[in-house]
Amino acid sequence: MSGIGRFAPSPTGPLHSGSLLAALASYLDIRAQQGRWLLRIEDLDPPREVAGASDQILYALERFRLHWDGTVSYQSQRLELYRAVLEQLQREGLAYPCQCSRKQLSERNALQHYDGHCRRHPPNRSALCAMRAVVCDSEFQFDDRIQGRRIYTGSDAPGDFVIFRRDDFFAYQLAVVVDDAEQGITQVTRGADLIDETPRQLVLQQHLGYKRPSYAHLPVLTNAQGQKLSKQTFARPLDLDETMISSQLLGALQLLGQQPPAELYEGLAEEILAWAIAHWQIDRIPKQLSLCAPAGHAHG
Ligand code: GLU
Ligand code: ZN
Repeated sequence: MSGIGRFAPSPTGPLHSGSLLAALASYLDIRAQQGRWLLRIEDLDPPREVAGASDQILYALERFRLHWDGTVSYQSQRLELYRAVLEQLQREGLAYPCQCSRKQLSERNALQHYDGHCRRHPPNRSALCAMRAVVCDSEFQFDDRIQGRRIYTGSDAPGDFVIFRRDDFFAYQLAVVVDDAEQGITQVTRGADLIDETPRQLVLQQHLGYKRPSYAHLPVLTNAQGQKLSKQTFARPLDLDETMISSQLLGALQLLGQQPPAELYEGLAEEILAWAIAHWQIDRIPKQLSLCAPAGHAHG
């Protein structure tokens, strides 16, 4: 049975080497099972958006010969759908308005794990409100195909979380869950910076009766001390010049623990991708990537 995967970049800047890794891994993982690969631009957050970034991302994916199926979907064109789901959750008592400011949350030590204040004391709706989804369970687990079994209990388990923002935008959590379900995504392959968001997505899937996709979270890049590096640190720009495409694909494959044979170093991007699909082994992907000890042998 073939599945459906996706790459879901936010247009906050051009594709960088970290996002190439996510694009490539999600592409290979689904192509290796003859599945479909969809492209979704997560342009839900206009203040963070960079003009022209969506088109730059599409262009870069084409340069890397990462061809998607169907048409590109844009979250900014799906607001009606999110609104309907939000209303449904609210009708069913699975979401409620919250008027707490950051300052109040921090004073109550409820920034990380919301204390349910507005669930017990419904705010006056005339003011600006966020909406939070109700979390009923106190333990969550899932089996990540790269990171293994993940268990979230106690203070690691999410509290009621924001699905609609006070500044009048739908939150990533709501849109990503609705879109993954509505587009029939069976496999989510993305950066491990999002792994701890997954339990919240499981909550919404349960509330909405959606199927749970399988998850694979790619390694976070760490420094020699094992500290997580920020996206910014890893955000080396990609070189879209034709002469540089193959070597960057090969570099990304090596970071993913795949071992392209020497002949491929002279190959075209199409040949490299065809090899990588045919030889894809997700269990070769390391759980973590240290900058000082690159996975596989260094090339060149
Ligand atoms: N749009 C998110 C990002 O670029 C990724 C969402 C996802 O893959 O679930 O960080
Ligand atoms: Zn509140």
